[in-house]
Amino acid sequence: MALKVTLLAYTPDPQKTVAMAAKLCYSPSKISDIGEGLTDEKVSSFVDMLSEIGHESPIEHASFTFGIEGVSRALLAQITRHRIASYSVQSQRYVAEKQFEYVLPPEIEKNPEAKEIFLDAMKRDQEQYDKLAEILKKQAYDEFIASGMDEKAAAKAAEKKAIEDARFVLPNACCTKMICTFNARSLKNFFAHRCCNRAQWEIRSLAEQMLMQCLEVAPELFKHCGPPCLFGKCPEGKMSCGKMQEVRKKYGR
Ligand SMILES: Cc1cc2nc3c(=O)[nH]c(=O)nc-3n(C[C@H](O)[C@H](O)[C@H](O)COP(=O)(O)OP(=O)(O)OC[C@H]3O[C@@H](n4cnc5c(N)ncnc54)[C@H](O)[C@@H]3O)c2cc1C
Repeated sequence: MALKVTLLAYTPDPQKTVAMAAKLCYSPSKISDIGEGLTDEKVSSFVDMLSEIGHESPIEHASFTFGIEGVSRALLAQITRHRIASYSVQSQRYVAEKQFEYVLPPEIEKNPEAKEIFLDAMKRDQEQYDKLAEILKKQAYDEFIASGMDEKAAAKAAEKKAIEDARFVLPNACCTKMICTFNARSLKNFFAHRCCNRAQWEIRSLAEQMLMQCLEVAPELFKHCGPPCLFGKCPEGKMSCGKMQEVRKKYGR
């Protein structure tokens, strides 16, 4: 399954919202008048000024919600390290993986021998999951019946209890879906870390697509976002990929 990200919702007029917050900090305006005179040019100049002076908290007033699918549980572990965001993730406790989908890494896909090993592992993982789920379901069903539960309720509860533990054999490659909401400040940090060549390929690909979608709806707000080498020296030191020119070209700079 291929990675798909959809910008589901965002703060209406995100740039003006940020500009209002910025204006409030520096002007005697009343709240009722705060949006007055905020032309596109003024909005752009407020947003630029915040970026120039590093006054970042006003950009927290704009939020962006993404629907993400076709990504691995390995990606889930990485994206949820970004604490300044909210996540809702499809649960393997409540949703049975009857035929789980998986992400096939490109480096494995292009090597026939590696691909065969990988596909075989996915097949075996599914078989082991199904077997475990069946064994655990029967065990739980018998226990629920013995405790006096009726058959219908016991079957339902046993299914849930079984998949809760059977999922322990599922791989990192297993696909997941999530909805996440970031404010623009947190997104800026996310893009700086994850659009960088040092980030792992899957989360980098996701971050690049998220940035493109943000640029479409709030170009002024996100124009200084992306890998740090777009805007200055690479901060990665010895770990630098050394491909600054290539990266700048990719982003059209
Ligand atoms: C290339 C790369 C390699 C990585 N490798 C590893 C690894 O090997 N092992 C590993 O465990 N992680 C690794 N990470 C994850 C990394 O350490 C961060 O956890 C992750 O990128 C989230 O970044 P963040 O903390 O800036 O984001 P957020 O959690 O969204 O935080 C945003 C910002 O808020 C501030 N903040 C948030 N919480 C606190 C706090 N408790 N105290 C002070 N300030 C706070 C910080 O300024 C932070 O930058 C890696 C990340 C990258 C990009």
